[in-house]
Amino acid sequence: EHKASSNFIKNIINEDLKSGKVDHIITRFPPEPNGYLHIGHAKSIILNFELADEFKGKTHLRFDDTNPVKEDTEYVESIKEDVMWLGYKWDELFFASDYFEEMYNRAVLLIKKGKAYVCDSTAEEIRKMRGSLIEVGQKSPYRDRSVEENLELFERMRQGEFKDGQKVLRAKIDMDSPNINMRDPVLYRIAHATHHNTGDKWCIYPMYDFAHPLEDAIEGVTHSICTLEFEDHRPLYDWVIRECEMDKVPQQYEFARLNITNTVMSKRKLKQLVDEQVVDGWDDPRMPTISGLRRKGYTPEAIRSFAREIGVAKADSVVDSKMLEFFIREDLKLKAPRTMAVLEPLKVVITNYPEDQVEMLEAENNSENPEMGSRQIPFSREIYIEQDDFMENPPAKYHRLFPGNEVRLKNAYFIKCNDIVKDETGKVIELHCTYDPETKSGTGFTGRKVKGTIHWVEASQAVPAEFRQYEPLILDQEEGDDTSFLEHINPNSLEVVQGFVEANIKDSKPQDKFQFFRHGYFNVDPLSLKQGKLIFNRIVSLKSSFQL
Ligand code: ATP
Ligand code: MG
Ligand code: MG
Repeated sequence: EHKASSNFIKNIINEDLKSGKVDHIITRFPPEPNGYLHIGHAKSIILNFELADEFKGKTHLRFDDTNPVKEDTEYVESIKEDVMWLGYKWDELFFASDYFEEMYNRAVLLIKKGKAYVCDSTAEEIRKMRGSLIEVGQKSPYRDRSVEENLELFERMRQGEFKDGQKVLRAKIDMDSPNINMRDPVLYRIAHATHHNTGDKWCIYPMYDFAHPLEDAIEGVTHSICTLEFEDHRPLYDWVIRECEMDKVPQQYEFARLNITNTVMSKRKLKQLVDEQVVDGWDDPRMPTISGLRRKGYTPEAIRSFAREIGVAKADSVVDSKMLEFFIREDLKLKAPRTMAVLEPLKVVITNYPEDQVEMLEAENNSENPEMGSRQIPFSREIYIEQDDFMENPPAKYHRLFPGNEVRLKNAYFIKCNDIVKDETGKVIELHCTYDPETKSGTGFTGRKVKGTIHWVEASQAVPAEFRQYEPLILDQEEGDDTSFLEHINPNSLEVVQGFVEANIKDSKPQDKFQFFRHGYFNVDPLSLKQGKLIFNRIVSLKSSFQL
């Protein structure tokens, strides 16, 4: 595997090391534990860990848990699992909530320096006072409170004397700044809520723009990488570090967030899909979460290759979801055994094959990778083929099975269709065929040619299995259409069919992956164990017109 492709942040780090601005590198991945991680987070994880790795630095996993209402330990655990599964090991694990006391002390320092004040305005009043790009800001009537009064009020906020929203602590910066982020932003708010880590110890919580730079500085992070929306927040980030007199001075850098076609990529929206039971959990294989992709059958290698290929840009763009599929095909092509599965079975009786005889035939495990060797598969008088591989009245150029036609059974013999058995509704339920022993696969038979090759599974040993095939969860939305994603849910995003697989894969374990001829790559679903039957998730179909 090659290293993170060259990117502008790497150039910055190279220069920082050369100029002596830093002598070591610390990055961090700072998720808020308010949901499961998605593929966009994977990009950030890969970037942060690989950058540090490249410069022999360290990466911290830090839970940015400063909002008690939405956070939960379930999310903390899932995030750790996902980062490890992607293949990364953090050097240190931190919780921002462990810094609450220090953050409080830094806020007190700001008050003492006359750089912060307690404001009694409502959220709405503050929003109005801060103005807009074309409006100047208006000073709060509480802006000139004395240091003593501010210290006392802030302490009383902490003691729980006020209700949610009754007071906030604001930075005293510049109400005339062209950057609205600098117009006296809120640093602390009151929230009487139980926190997953600190319980009921606190009822005031720091805002992201105050907390994040302090977290980075406390941990000695050197390069704090975030998405482009935070570019305008950088002056505030630097102001907090400077005015709070932090010893270590981290630098924030921004890169373009990952967007993927027809893919919802926000924990808030993904949570809605879970809460409204559009999907059956965060790890539903239709979800773009790391746990959903894992359950669908994606590998960490495929996700890492995808992230490296898209690289790190300075401008937002949307990546085609087919690109992610390209990388899982690439990864599984030579790794996944190729076996036969019949998804919608039709029984075939080979009338001239001896009853009670089962012979073993040799089959390659991966025609593109001889190192995977071969296996023995049973053949007998009764087999299953795909319903799709037979037509009673075929159009021209149909080369599979139809009355009077001969096809090759993969790894076995030529068979010819002689009779059709139908049920009372006229549906074809069985075919009667004959085989030609001289056409056995591997014997070099050249007597005649057939145009079609079909796959099959021997009936007496076939293992029943369920196959789940997925289509995009969200349908294409035209440009300019700003209706909610919830109105564009694909009603056919999951199709479940029953069929059979070869006996030799009956003991497959969850997460085992196969290529089923013609159908694509499949992953054994973890539910298989609970339900006592093999359930396969289709990871991706075999082919696509997508090119890198
Ligand atoms: P969401 O809106 O999905 O909750 P977030 O940015 O609020 O995303 P965090 O938990 O704060 O989620 O994110 C942790 C890290 O992951 C941040 O550094 C953030 O920049 C990064 N990140 C989140 N989404 C993406 C994305 N789509 N592409 C790249 N990086 C992302
Ligand atoms: Mg965030
Ligand atoms: Mg968020």
